[in-house]
Amino acid sequence: MMRAFEYVRATDTARAVEMVTADPNTSYLAGGTTQLDLMKDGVLAPERLVDITHLPLRGVTGGRGALRVGALTTMEELAADTTVVERIPFVRDALLLGASTQLRNMATIAGNLLQRTRCRYFRDPAVAACNKRERGSGCAAMTGTARMHAILGTSPHCIALHASDVAVPLVALDAILRVQGRDGARGVPLTRFYLTPGDTPDVENLLRHGELITAVEIPLPALGTRSGYLKVRDRVSYEFALTSAAAALLIEDGIIVEARVGLGGVGTVPWRAREAEEILIGAPATMEVFRQSAERALEGARTISGTAFKVELAKRTLVRILRTVSGVVA
Ligand SMILES: Cc1cc2nc3c(=O)[nH]c(=O)nc-3n(C[C@H](O)[C@H](O)[C@H](O)COP(=O)(O)OP(=O)(O)OC[C@H]3O[C@@H](n4cnc5c(N)ncnc54)[C@H](O)[C@@H]3O)c2cc1C
Ligand code: SF4
Repeated sequence: MMRAFEYVRATDTARAVEMVTADPNTSYLAGGTTQLDLMKDGVLAPERLVDITHLPLRGVTGGRGALRVGALTTMEELAADTTVVERIPFVRDALLLGASTQLRNMATIAGNLLQRTRCRYFRDPAVAACNKRERGSGCAAMTGTARMHAILGTSPHCIALHASDVAVPLVALDAILRVQGRDGARGVPLTRFYLTPGDTPDVENLLRHGELITAVEIPLPALGTRSGYLKVRDRVSYEFALTSAAAALLIEDGIIVEARVGLGGVGTVPWRAREAEEILIGAPATMEVFRQSAERALEGARTISGTAFKVELAKRTLVRILRTVSGVVA
């Protein structure tokens, strides 16, 4: 059952920030594909929604060193951008392998990065034990069915997965969020934005109540960098990742000069695989090196019975995308 709420359409950014900041029971509404689902499920119950879709925060600009993506740019619009297609195709692939065409036409890039976990217990208020919904109440996933859960960055209090696809190449690229608050603007690196659960799984990121994401800045990798995104899932479309891997490699004379690696489907936050990058950079582009980097990337994995299969699957996913991007023949 959905509870009644007030709907306000914002036409001024500062006014929108003021309205949400001033009231803990007011939230932003962008495409609504996450927000409204959670309200229908009874997980969220704001008293007022401030619709931001008419604010001038849409479109992609820049193009040499970095792209600036307005927060309200839809997933489909970003995937179709020429610079994205030419310079960072793994961002396009991650976008187009997510959700469905209808959803991608509604869903905004900021909303995507702020989507909540798909943990079934979080989304079912009839289940009492969920530390993310109510701190200290317990974690039903630990003893229940937990296949679509995390194996990296977990804590004894929560193993919920971050489900965004596009966040995976974006953490690999060191994207920066531009955030507008009542007292001014700031930039937050996406690699630091998300918080692993620790003993406060309900606190998911560094955004303060009322702060508005206005844009995402994406630094472009060096010319000649090749990239790819591989998503492994139970069915071929309209499904979240079991595991995924994003890789961007610059290879000169058979040696990997630059490497950026992100993993999805495994982390409580979109996972930057720096240990894998350390193995890759300066090494020859060979299957042996790719396997070593995958071993290192998953070294810290912690599993329960339902998620144990993900360790090997994630390694194979990473090796496969490294092989595809590099063109190395096994
Ligand atoms: C059936 C289904 C399948 C999906 N499959 C995938 C998938 O395979 N891969 C994937 O990555 N995603 C998937 N998604 C998630 C989807 O991409 C997100 O729901 C969507 O991107 C959210 O964007 P939105 O504009 O609709 O956000 P909303 O639902 O409007 O907002 C989401 C949250 O972000 C807040 N918010 C929105 N914009 C801002 C802003 N600018 N500043 C501050 N706060 C803001 C809202 O208050 C809300 O809390 C799926 C969703 C559904 C429903
Ligand atoms: S894994 Fe996290 S979100 Fe899921 S039930 Fe446990 S505490 Fe809640």
